[in-house]
Amino acid sequence: MKRSGAGTLGVEDVGRQVKLQGWVHRRRDHGGVIFLDLRDRSGVVQVVVRPADAPEAASNLAPARNEWVVEIEGAVAARAPEAVNPKVATGEIEVVAAAGRVLSPSAPLPFNVEGEVDATEETRLRYRYLDLRRPELQRNLVLRHEVTFDVLEYFHQQGFLHVETPILTRSTPEGARDYLVPSRVHKGSFYALPQSPQIFKQICMVAGLERYVQIARCFRDEDLRADRQPEFTQVDVEMSFPTEEDVFALIEGLFVRLFERRGITVERPFPRLTHAAARARYGTDKPDLRFGMAIADLGGGLAASGFRAFASALAEGGVVRGLRVPGAAGASRKEVDAWVELARRHGAAGALTLRRRDGESVFQVKDVLAAPEIEFLVAALGLEEGDLALIAAGPETTTSAALGALRLAAAARYERIPDDAWAFCWITDFPLVEWDEREQRFQAVNHPFTAPHPDDVSRLDSDPATVRSRGYDVVLNGYELGGGSIRIHDREMQQRCFALLGISAAEAQERFGFLLEALEFGAPPHGGIALGLDRIVMLLAGADSLRDVIAFPKTTSAADLMTGAPSGVEGAQLDELGLATTAADD
Ligand code: ASP
Repeated sequence: MKRSGAGTLGVEDVGRQVKLQGWVHRRRDHGGVIFLDLRDRSGVVQVVVRPADAPEAASNLAPARNEWVVEIEGAVAARAPEAVNPKVATGEIEVVAAAGRVLSPSAPLPFNVEGEVDATEETRLRYRYLDLRRPELQRNLVLRHEVTFDVLEYFHQQGFLHVETPILTRSTPEGARDYLVPSRVHKGSFYALPQSPQIFKQICMVAGLERYVQIARCFRDEDLRADRQPEFTQVDVEMSFPTEEDVFALIEGLFVRLFERRGITVERPFPRLTHAAARARYGTDKPDLRFGMAIADLGGGLAASGFRAFASALAEGGVVRGLRVPGAAGASRKEVDAWVELARRHGAAGALTLRRRDGESVFQVKDVLAAPEIEFLVAALGLEEGDLALIAAGPETTTSAALGALRLAAAARYERIPDDAWAFCWITDFPLVEWDEREQRFQAVNHPFTAPHPDDVSRLDSDPATVRSRGYDVVLNGYELGGGSIRIHDREMQQRCFALLGISAAEAQERFGFLLEALEFGAPPHGGIALGLDRIVMLLAGADSLRDVIAFPKTTSAADLMTGAPSGVEGAQLDELGLATTAADD
């Protein structure tokens, strides 16, 4: 008999003989009758084993406990009306066992696979194969598979070729630390695992492939913040002869399709914001546009203010900005203190409140602002009865970052952010470079292959900090889903940009000589983008963590608790590689 899927059975199968193979999800004994919830990838179905009708099955299955693997043969039967469970897909039926046996027992479980999670994250990762049996995690992996499949289908239909680029390669400059792999054959030399396939995909364009896509694994050895993984998956895309518009249309079409197939309507075109506007209005280059609470610039009405904090910030070339928190006029002292603390953590001196209550507007510091100044603030912030405004003053960068963080914190408390809203946007006009104080040189904001904006090229040498790039990011609900750019396809321009980043001609030749050379042989104009697949699936799954959508994730200390990687190796292996270690971690 062919095996049936437990979760696929329903009333239409009543009377059918079926064979099931799967795990005991839950087991109950009622006066000698055994009830097993049998689970396989398709779902769960209830099995009844009556010793009177199937004595051999009952004795075979008597020892079976949770997570034992069993085989059942029997007939699908309708449940009595009072036994119907509308909460379960197969709740109208059960399988009455005629035969049954244990295929594989299970050792006592370190935690329950069924029901509430009752184990620490460490234990769950150590026994990942058990945790993955949870229906929620299985659903996430199914979703991930389907999204991957849809992505490839979409790009295939658009004429893209899936090309695999090497994992053992040279360092690619995405700005993070490389994972290195020692070469046995070339002692003292190392491969680097790719931080991205960036250079290879550009070279694919020089090779005339015109449209490239790859579900690409990337590796970045960074100190991991809460929700990052040292290896992650990108939907990596490159095309020849594109404008920004072509890339935007392509990617919007992808997201519309991915979300539509999951019953979510996404509006296009996605709104666009320049990097400068995003920073000014939302205090971040990845704004959450599911709600308003835009930041207002208040400097215009305060230039002559007698309040020192404002006047001196403006006099020193800084800003005074604020945002309205609707309905927060009654915020407690404690809440305000927490906001001030948050603003400080982002480098601002603090934040001040302006409350509008009982028709009156009260600024936190008494008697420092003139009545017309307060009126100006109320109007500029759009403050209404019952509202509170948070105002910060100081240098542009820290003030903007602080207000961006305050906007999110205050919204979490005072705005009803719909969890089924999907607010995409494009961020454009990034600066090409930013000054790195520590290293005393310019760094690429995107990467060194990003083309400068044609209107700004004339300032490349004289005023590089003001040059915009042709880079862009796509953002959803405050998460950066991906980024890319139109690239440099001209050797001379590429060399100029390397030089601007403090990469000497010799170093450029040593590290990227092959790319510079390739640019001399009819390199087409090209550009592309990379999207974070893990994050896209996480958002679609409604999961809280990337770990919930990656089959075998690592911890924040980049360890794999199941296999024990990273681990020491045999001395002989090191000898063969010509390596010696000087320090062990523990
Ligand atoms: N290589 C870039 C990244 O991984 C994406 C791109 O420019 O296409 O962030």
